[in-house]
Amino acid sequence: MKNKPAGLYIHVPFCLSKCAYCSFYSSSSLHLIDEFTKSIPREMAFYKNIFPSFDTIYIGGGTPSLLSVAQVHDILLAIHFNFQIHLQAEITMEVNPGDASQDYLQQLRALGINRINIGIQSFDDTLLKFLGRRHSARSALAAVEAARAAGFENLGMDFIYGVSGQTMDSWKQTLKTAVDLCAEHLSCYQLSLDKKTPLHQRYLTEGLSLLTEDQALDYFLTTSQVLTDAGYTHYEVSNFARTDSLKSRHNMKYWCHTPYLGLGPAAHTFLDHQRWWNKSSVEAYLKSIAGEMKPQEGFEKLSLEQLRLEAWFLGMRTKDGIDLAQFKTSYGCDLLTDKKPIIDELIRNRLVELTERHLHPTLAGMAVADSLALI
Ligand code: SF4
Repeated sequence: MKNKPAGLYIHVPFCLSKCAYCSFYSSSSLHLIDEFTKSIPREMAFYKNIFPSFDTIYIGGGTPSLLSVAQVHDILLAIHFNFQIHLQAEITMEVNPGDASQDYLQQLRALGINRINIGIQSFDDTLLKFLGRRHSARSALAAVEAARAAGFENLGMDFIYGVSGQTMDSWKQTLKTAVDLCAEHLSCYQLSLDKKTPLHQRYLTEGLSLLTEDQALDYFLTTSQVLTDAGYTHYEVSNFARTDSLKSRHNMKYWCHTPYLGLGPAAHTFLDHQRWWNKSSVEAYLKSIAGEMKPQEGFEKLSLEQLRLEAWFLGMRTKDGIDLAQFKTSYGCDLLTDKKPIIDELIRNRLVELTERHLHPTLAGMAVADSLALI
């Protein structure tokens, strides 16, 4: 693991407005964007010789497309100056449909961004309004068209299902539109609401409800069916790729315990047995950097047992599951021997399958992946 190329994540913590369902940290203090852009390279300097190399870069947020082309340029330049980046690196940037003009995207492409992830969420305007998004279905379609015209051949799209007022037919229509647009990658998340979000409050006051367990299963299975029928691989609980090579190489690192470095406010890092995370405040982050200090807020050293449980949990979320020999080497546990009773039961209940080298979840297993974590 240690010498594998790592993933580099840059968190751009700014949003023009807050979506009603979002509990991620973001700031609307856009006047700080410039100082943030100048601080990121200074944070890079702290980690210069720690990670051998990176073969994925992911600029996420927040809303990275609030950055100007010049600011993205400066960040990429600093990345190449401070780190060793593989020639064939996957370089993704998240884009809000409202910011995706063809000119902007063309310039990003020229900077070396080779994958765009668009936060579409739905092609239904009523639902977009309900979610508090600042774009329309029409601008989402225009963003996809602009990205294609700008030369992007690897487009990811994010969607949300289980929104009050959404019907299965309207969800299927959204999926069909995404398929017709030949999305290379689709992320389909079930709506869940943190208590602190305005949408949670609205659900309470208006007596709205989230999906029941049965409805959630129905949406999960229907999504999988529609997209696999259309030729996609359902390779992680919420993720689908048009071919194996179009899986999100960056996100795979999170699921496979491969090291990653996160820069920017609230970003997380994983290296060997350690995990640390940055301050969840732009102001506090900038202050640390100005004072020549790492902007870390927390740190934990994971025991082998914690790593093993996490690897199991993450592995059960992916179609490929767990490589048994690798699991034994990395975590000192022979699953088929040490956990025989529980593995046998999961196989009997058709939640898990055993192939020559792998233990992997069935579709039914992926649907309840979180509860398979109890080992
Ligand atoms: S754009 Fe994304 S990060 Fe920003 S508020 Fe909306 S969901 Fe949250």
